Amino acid sequence: MAIGEFDLIRQYFSNLQAIRPGVVIGIGDDAAVLEFPPNRQLVVATDTLVAGVHFPKKLGAEHIGARALLVNLSDLAAMGAEPLWFTLALTLPQASASWLSAFSKGLSDVATAYSCALVGGDTTCGPLTITITVHGAVPPGEALTRRGAQPGDRVYVTGTPGLGAAGLACLQGELEVDDERVRRQLLDGFLKPRPRLDVGQRLRGVASAAIDISDGLLADLGHICEQSQVGAQLEWEALPNLDRLMDTVTAEQRRQWVLGGGDDYELCFTAPENKSAAVQALAAEIGAPITRIGRIVSTAVTSKVLCQDKHGKKVSVHKQGYQHF
Ligand code: ADP
Ligand code: MG
Repeated sequence: MAIGEFDLIRQYFSNLQAIRPGVVIGIGDDAAVLEFPPNRQLVVATDTLVAGVHFPKKLGAEHIGARALLVNLSDLAAMGAEPLWFTLALTLPQASASWLSAFSKGLSDVATAYSCALVGGDTTCGPLTITITVHGAVPPGEALTRRGAQPGDRVYVTGTPGLGAAGLACLQGELEVDDERVRRQLLDGFLKPRPRLDVGQRLRGVASAAIDISDGLLADLGHICEQSQVGAQLEWEALPNLDRLMDTVTAEQRRQWVLGGGDDYELCFTAPENKSAAVQALAAEIGAPITRIGRIVSTAVTSKVLCQDKHGKKVSVHKQGYQHF
């Protein structure tokens, strides 16, 4: 059954504004008015998901709703920010009640879990596209950036890079996994990326630079290198290992997923050597998997991200990261 634009907003989205206090004027006016926490800086990020580009066209609506917000929250995590609110620009080919109700459930579950309220948006008709803008807060001057990496710093990642890409391959039937538990783990890697908000916030004052891995580890660490004007050397054997999860794929495919696969939404960050204990302590305290994978070097050594195995042989991939154009 079709539903009008305003009923649609009321029915599926209005209740998501009560998720946190401070919404003075929410959904229903020309703009939202929000009570911003005192002595904080605003952190804003936008990510768009296009059907057929960022997720398979047939993906269930609940997953689409959840993922749309999760990937945006991951950007706040990379900045060390605490999530506050988001807006939703939704373009739909048609207003299907069952699709909308599943989509809003997926969205609402994530919004509730991370205490981020929906405060406005736009609803239009067209090819399925979801744009979310998240707003977060950091103490003044404490946002993590891509700019501060220094030669000698250590390089770390959270979680297991490559899971997202392997999960997508699984979802699309390109990867067969017999073990149901492993299959679930891979699928969740793609469908339920876990924004490392707790890690990001705890890295304020510890990390020298940070980024979330959306386009692939080499490409994203490359952005840190570019902005910090440094190079990076990774040790292949130090990277969290996908091998245990799948013995059916070629070593080349695994390398591609780990180093070049997008969709992980893990954090890659750098920290000075003298913060190693602090990194270990926060990992233990939060219970987050954090692995040291390499070091930052000066551009005189390399201006890029170089990954080598224990024999000093370069480990390369054929595609570094996704580019839209
Ligand atoms: P305007 O014409 O002023 O742009 P709209 O008619 O587009 O306003 O939207 C009406 C209200 O509903 C606004 O407060 C807007 O923020 C909100 N809104 C529209 N679409 C959504 C959505 N998908 N999710 C949440 N709020 C929405
Ligand atoms: Mg509008």
